[in-house]
Amino acid sequence: MTRHGSPRPSRSLPFALLYNAPRSILAPDNPMDQPVSQVDDLVDDELDNASDEVRRLVCPICRRGVSPVELLSANVLSEAVVSIVGANNPSWRVQLGICRRCAERFGEAHDRLRRAYPGFGHREYKILPTAMRLGASAQYTGRGVTMAFLDSGFYAHPDLIEPRNRILKYADITNPRARDSALYEPNVSSWHGMMTSVVACGNGHLSNGLYRGIASDANLVLVKVGESRRILHDDIRRGVEWVIRNREKYDIRIVNISCGGDYEASYLDDALSQAVERATRDGILVCAAVGNAGHASDHAVVPPASAPSVLTVGGIDDKNRLEFADYDMYHSSYGPTVDGLQKPEVVAPGIWVAAPILPGTPTADQAAFYSALASSTDATLRAVIAAHPGVDEDFDAALGLDNYLIRHLVEIKLRDNAVISGSYKHVDGTSFSSPIVASIAAQIIEANPALRPQQIKSTLVRTATRMPHVPVDRQGWGVVNPKRAVLRALRTGAYATPILED
Ligand SMILES: [Zn+2]
Repeated sequence: MTRHGSPRPSRSLPFALLYNAPRSILAPDNPMDQPVSQVDDLVDDELDNASDEVRRLVCPICRRGVSPVELLSANVLSEAVVSIVGANNPSWRVQLGICRRCAERFGEAHDRLRRAYPGFGHREYKILPTAMRLGASAQYTGRGVTMAFLDSGFYAHPDLIEPRNRILKYADITNPRARDSALYEPNVSSWHGMMTSVVACGNGHLSNGLYRGIASDANLVLVKVGESRRILHDDIRRGVEWVIRNREKYDIRIVNISCGGDYEASYLDDALSQAVERATRDGILVCAAVGNAGHASDHAVVPPASAPSVLTVGGIDDKNRLEFADYDMYHSSYGPTVDGLQKPEVVAPGIWVAAPILPGTPTADQAAFYSALASSTDATLRAVIAAHPGVDEDFDAALGLDNYLIRHLVEIKLRDNAVISGSYKHVDGTSFSSPIVASIAAQIIEANPALRPQQIKSTLVRTATRMPHVPVDRQGWGVVNPKRAVLRALRTGAYATPILED
């Protein structure tokens, strides 16, 4: 089996230096002609439709062509915007200005970080929420949409069950006698599925709403198909078949599969591939992680990601930044498949993704401890260490050190353990790219419930943006664009009939 994600990334952390500064005040966008209501925060992408004559200038951050009125000069930018843009883009100088859209995105990022972390300020580094980095609409949250997840195990994380339990059903196809109480036991097998489900559907309950998934109001059906050490090809198939059998009962519209089978196989005779093809025909969009073997000579795409109708998702490294211009590939697998199909179709963030820490584990204790130290004053630093003996022996031995050395150790521990806070760390793998795309699909279905799986797939594909410096094999149609996808879905209403599909 292949689980396409790791909770312990090894790369160093790119960080944003952020300063205390007044709230940004910028003139609002000109209201634009919209044929559809309910698109308030979707309109900014419409700027891309501006004619070439008015796009004489280029924004130095996102590198879009913009008109002179859209390019804001230094004297109208707030100090907060200038500091966060500068921290994210070391080569930028305030004299270059930035476009209105970038100014608003960075200003919003600053404000949201301040709200979630009232104490945060100078020299603090934070992982930005992926929804913010992708510029996803906050209006569409997967309301009324049920998403199924197949994984090695799950946990009823507060981000899924508070204030309302959105888990409609838990099923364990490896053990028919399993009970829902398994969802509350911090088992090592629970980690991976907890992370994939919360990345898509978490509401940020433990982060003051900051690390909210794009489908933060969606309902969930959780299907355990293995253990952390082993997920069998055939058990993934049985999981897919369970989802098909229970589609109507829970109104399942999407299934995310962040794991892969044991071998390459043609969809013409592989039972797992046939199961996902049937799921698509039955009206379920299947999102699958493509795998993390892009750096190896054998970067095979295995079922279910290799099946034709599946929306297969690769990873990008967006460097924890807001703008598009400097994105790069994550080392995700790519085709062609044994059937000669090009996979993946789209790519989405595959690193620097905030994911929950499994409560009740030593990892959780350590993360809480490091976070408490990071927010301690000099006067309380030693008291915090003394109150947590045995959590980390390096600190037990550090009590006699100078404060600056203790603080240096805290920074090393936060970085090496990828700790964001006591409740979240950052993770990497296409295991997270796929649920991010699945969560955008939930927005699309909320916006236009009549769309069939292949229409949703085509909506995401047609609104993706190619990275000019990356081979097409590796990125497919490119980086998903949630706002454009939702807008397109809203406008395909007239053509959305199930008959188009089959
Ligand atoms: Zn810009």
